[in-house]
Formats: sequence, C-alpha cells, structure tokens
Amino acid sequence: MRKKLVAGNWKMHGSLAENAALLAALKPALAGIDAVVCVPFPYLAQAQAELAGSSIAWGAQNVSEQAKGAFTGEVSTSMLLDFGCKYVIVGHSERRSLYGETDQLVASKYVAAQAAGLTPILCVGESLEERESGVTEAVVARQLDAVIAAAGVNSLSKAVVAYEPVWAIGTGKTASPEQAQAVHAFIRGKISALDAGVAEQLVIQYGGSVKAANAAELMAQPDIDGGLIGGASLIASEFVAICRAAAK
Ligand code: PEP
Repeated sequence: MRKKLVAGNWKMHGSLAENAALLAALKPALAGIDAVVCVPFPYLAQAQAELAGSSIAWGAQNVSEQAKGAFTGEVSTSMLLDFGCKYVIVGHSERRSLYGETDQLVASKYVAAQAAGLTPILCVGESLEERESGVTEAVVARQLDAVIAAAGVNSLSKAVVAYEPVWAIGTGKTASPEQAQAVHAFIRGKISALDAGVAEQLVIQYGGSVKAANAAELMAQPDIDGGLIGGASLIASEFVAICRAAAK
C-alpha cells in the first residue's frame, strides 16, 4: 500500500508568535501521523526547533537551482539542509505564474533538490483556460516530461507529485473528487507506461481548496495519496482533520 502524505504550504503567512501557537497545536494532534509543513524561509529555524523529534517534517516552498554564488535573494539546497529540511516544493503555480518559472527551471530545481537529498514536491496543474480548452492532460504531461527528461523516471521514486489545478488554488473551488481522480489516474498511467513500479509507489497529492469538510471524499479516491494544503494549513483544527482523513 502506498503511503499517504499531507503537506501544508504556509505561503507568505505567519509570524514567530502565530507559528509557535500553530505548531504547538499540531504537534500533539498529529503524533504518529506523517505530515509536512512548508514554511517561509525565515521560519525554518523555528520549525526545526519546534518539530525536531515529532512526526511532522518541515520544508521550504522554493529553492535555487544554483549551489552558491552571486544570486542575490536566492536560497540554496545546502542552506535548507542546514535547517533540517526534508522537503521542498518546486514549481508551485504561484512561482510559475507570478515569477515566471519555466518547466526547465522547475526541472533544474527538482534536480538540485534531489542531488542534495531533499524530497521535491513537484507541483503540476492546468489553468482554468487550459481546462476549458481541453488541454489539461497535455499541460500536466508537459510539466512532468520536463522533469523526466532532466532526471529520469526513476527519480520519481524519491519525489512527491502534487496535482494542483490552478483554478482551484485559494479560490474556494475544489476539483470534484472525480475530476481530481481522473487527472491523478492520468499521471499514474503516464508514469506507469515508463516504469510500473515507480508509478505504483508514487505519492500523488491533490491541492486546491482542500478543507476538513471536503478532505475525506478526495482522500478516498484510489489515486489520491494525500494533499498539498494552502489556506487550511494555517488553521490547526483544519489541517489536523485533513491529515487524519488522509491517514485513514
Ligand atoms: C496551495 O497553496 O498549494 C494550495 C493548494 O492552496 P489552497 O489550499 O489555499 O487552495
């Protein structure tokens, strides 16, 4: 059986005081349940101090594809390792659409993360316009192909894929369980055509307005193996309920 994994993406939210309260609530409630929080860079030290020894891992929301040097404002994989990160989100749709990250740049970040021993959470997903014009599968395939070309299909055995339809992120519009399952099955089928063993074990998270109220039916789908959670990951009771729904 595949493992289930829920990751929180705090985006650019939080403060030392707010994070302390959130993490203090999550720790006991998620004891024994694998979960991840991807926090803003300045709070990695706090996550490490608060979460070390718990079942909650922590990570970042972005990373540089460069190892070191004159790259003002960038953060390297080795810096993430210094703060005990296990995971890093690459290719979040906000990075792709607001900061111009191309499939090739995302693939370079994925390669750099894996080379450092970090597990990339690779985000893929279509915009509303793309869905409405019937190219959802083509878009997701293109985003996956960039990574497969750069790192090989076997690399996916050390990665997590998050399917996040852009139109469902932060909008309150969730893909229906059937819509999400269809794309998850497409992703698994595509990988399976290259390597059935890798596909069978691949954790494919769904992300896009997941909440406690809709988590159970999404997580019950056969190819949905957890979630990447934005807004609801900032509310302890919501995030705990989603993690528990996935772990069932
Ligand atoms: C996200 O940030 O990846 C996300 C899915 O956000 P939300 O859950 O708020 O839609």
